[in-house]
Amino acid sequence: LTKEDKKIISNSIRDIKDFPKEGIVFKDITTLLNNKEAYQTLMNHLEERYNSYNLDYVAGIDSRGFIFGAALADRLKVGFVPVRKKGKLPSTTVCEKYELEYGFDEVEIHLDAFPKAKARVLLIDDLIATGGTANAAAKLIKHVNADLVEVCFLLNLTFLDGAKKVREHAPVYSILDI
Ligand code: AMP
Repeated sequence: LTKEDKKIISNSIRDIKDFPKEGIVFKDITTLLNNKEAYQTLMNHLEERYNSYNLDYVAGIDSRGFIFGAALADRLKVGFVPVRKKGKLPSTTVCEKYELEYGFDEVEIHLDAFPKAKARVLLIDDLIATGGTANAAAKLIKHVNADLVEVCFLLNLTFLDGAKKVREHAPVYSILDI
């Protein structure tokens, strides 16, 4: 990724202050998605990086991870698997609880999400903050006996050091470190 390409991507993401609550700076990627130059630059980079990884599936985290994950899976000609918030998946699931600032949340995956044995899987989301969500998603992927090859984020809020937790499961790659 060239410096110029990085700039195209980072300039397309906007900050929304105090969303969804006071004190949070929300990184809004809808302005990347509706900018064809930025979206293509990002997807070209991801395709180039992961072409040689010999992946069997891309797994995306609910819900912005679905957008990048499904687009990448199609480019790599591999399957896509959604990791969903609790209560959305219709068949038998495994689920993992994780801590939020106030209370808990849960993510789920279908028990038979990866039909191929020892599937090589990339996990992707738009952003890592505390790492709680991605850490729980990584645990699920391992729980169903897949091989988690890497965890990828468009944005990493490095001051929260969430990647530290996720690195216990697999290497972490982020395009923009903030
Ligand atoms: P965490 O579990 O704390 O790492 O939070 C990551 C999840 O929450 C990801 O699915 C993000 O899309 C979302 N998220 C957390 N913080 C932000 C933020 N500042 N801007 C946009 N999305 C966020």
